[in-house]
Amino acid sequence: MSSLGQYAVIGLGRFGISLARRLFEAGQEVLGIDIDEEMVEEAELFVTHAVVADATEEKALTSLGISNFDCVILAIGNDLHANILTAMLLKDLGVKKLIAKALEKRHGDLLDKIGADWIIFPERDMGERVANQLLSPNMLNYIELSKEYNIEEIMIPPKMAEKTLKELDIRAQYNVTAIALIREGDIIISPSPDEVIHKEDILVMIGKSEDLASFSNIK
Ligand code: ADP
Repeated sequence: MSSLGQYAVIGLGRFGISLARRLFEAGQEVLGIDIDEEMVEEAELFVTHAVVADATEEKALTSLGISNFDCVILAIGNDLHANILTAMLLKDLGVKKLIAKALEKRHGDLLDKIGADWIIFPERDMGERVANQLLSPNMLNYIELSKEYNIEEIMIPPKMAEKTLKELDIRAQYNVTAIALIREGDIIISPSPDEVIHKEDILVMIGKSEDLASFSNIK
């Protein structure tokens, strides 16, 4: 389990509550905030504390000690006015890290100007993720490092089983690099060239997304 962090999640709709719940289940300290009493009551079981407050009111945010949290997640979605106003207040109050949900690009641009550290577009990002999964069926998970480069977890193609990394010569053949190997839940970092790859192994690869896509489509 990672060390204890203190998170505040503002807006306990579908996005906010799933995020808050996951953090709480992972042992983190989570304060959930919503203007709607019913949402707060529903959230109580899934967070450390849940409070009713209007995040567009500076006084409400200061009395919760919002700037002491390691990270504040602004998950108010549909009420654009409340989202932007809260983002500005949070920046003025000097929150350490602000993650904000945006509905579309211009909204994201505005949050960027306000100084949000990470802007999330849940619908767009999930759409892209599903499309990537369809395009690369052997790809289990990925991190987008830039527009060009990804890190991906890829199930090894059957024809590569029981060969060493040296024999497979993946870097020269596919222009991607294996940075780790996942075997029965254990991780082998920087596997040696003599490591024999088994049937159920997963390779963690870094490279250009198009090269990774070719690799993960090997039959
Ligand atoms: P989702 O699509 O994730 O369900 P919504 O925009 O529907 O997102 O929900 C966001 C939540 O934010 C709602 O529960 C709403 O009550 C809450 N919310 C809206 N305005 C404020 C505010 N000013 N302060 C605190 N919470 C708010």
